[in-house]
Amino acid sequence: MQMKREDFEILNERVYGKELVYLDNAATTQKPREVLDAMTYAYTHFNSNIHRGVHHLSQIATRNHEEARQKVAQYINTESPDEIVFTKGTTDSINMLAFSVGELLVREGDEVLVSAVEHHSNIVPWQMMCERKGARLRVIPLREDMTLDMEALDKLLNEKTRIVSVAHVSNVLGTVNPVGEIVRKAHEKGVAVCIDAAQSAAHMRVDVRELDCDFMAFSAHKMYGPTGLGVLYGKREWLEKLPPAEGGGEMIEHVSFEKTTYNTLPYKFEAGTPDFIGSYVFGKALDYIERIGRAEIEKEESELTAYAEQRLKEVPGVKIYAAGQRKAGVISFNVEGIHPYDIGMLLDRQGVAVRTGHHCAEPLINELGVPGTVRISFGLYNNKEDVDKFVEALEKSLHILTGV
Ligand code: PMP
Repeated sequence: MQMKREDFEILNERVYGKELVYLDNAATTQKPREVLDAMTYAYTHFNSNIHRGVHHLSQIATRNHEEARQKVAQYINTESPDEIVFTKGTTDSINMLAFSVGELLVREGDEVLVSAVEHHSNIVPWQMMCERKGARLRVIPLREDMTLDMEALDKLLNEKTRIVSVAHVSNVLGTVNPVGEIVRKAHEKGVAVCIDAAQSAAHMRVDVRELDCDFMAFSAHKMYGPTGLGVLYGKREWLEKLPPAEGGGEMIEHVSFEKTTYNTLPYKFEAGTPDFIGSYVFGKALDYIERIGRAEIEKEESELTAYAEQRLKEVPGVKIYAAGQRKAGVISFNVEGIHPYDIGMLLDRQGVAVRTGHHCAEPLINELGVPGTVRISFGLYNNKEDVDKFVEALEKSLHILTGV
């Protein structure tokens, strides 16, 4: 994987004169040269609004957009590309879904289930919908070892539950949730499941047919692709039934002032001009990931995570959250008596980019009983040298902060 670093020019940047060590991939990933080139190529050679045009450029743009949809469909193994809705990102996908599910399924007294490790974007849209509908948001708790309490899930699932929405991988702990088992249990009770794959889609094989989930959401920018683009997957039978969350051009079949009929899938859910440049560029990012291979990426990142946990354990005062659990390239930790922000600041001065704070998962951080954590997260270009530089910089930071 070492040679892949050459594809990411930004890794040569210097920060305060130091070599950049980029360990904030859970927030966003860097883009390889061919993805950046694809953006320029698209604007230079076929920029033209899609679907409506009879002219040459519009036809090329339309074909490229639909080819990208096919690539995404293959990437997560959907039955049909019609089940792929392009959105602005995971947050947008979940907001759209929560609105539509609320309109179709949720009545007063009903329940929606999320887990204790969710990102705000997999809490707040459901909460807003529950408030509108007089429904209740319930939470799958954590066990002592910071994995989800699956026995509690059995008790929480009941005849009032309308949907379960859970993260595949926690963006704070890095833990891989047993989403296949959650789907099985929910389906036994006739309940639909949405998987927030924002932190898994670039790091492991994600197969919607194997998981049998009803919905899935993820963001291109966390997958070496462009910002402002995401995906909502939905099983065809669900997407057929759900009402669209947004109205406008493109999503209609016929419009009159009296009544509008909707377009076929997936266009019913894509109001307005979609990001057809972004989708094309995202397709190139998926090509890049596939060329390296997700099995290879998962293997290397899990080895790197294990190595980083082991190195971190050697640093006095470090507490790693969910230590030893199966993780997908994310580690959160704290150092006794030191605010995570101070560590982040001092690491930055040494060229090491990490994230500190609540990571948009305040309920989880509150449960951990800390003001925040320091989080390192890996991408396919990170290596042991990055980990060593990070640990060295951490030790220096702690020396400055404690004088020891
Ligand atoms: N869910 C999870 C688990 C995430 O990690 C993130 C991004 N940090 C999101 C949702 C939101 O993604 P976006 O900001 O791209 O919409």
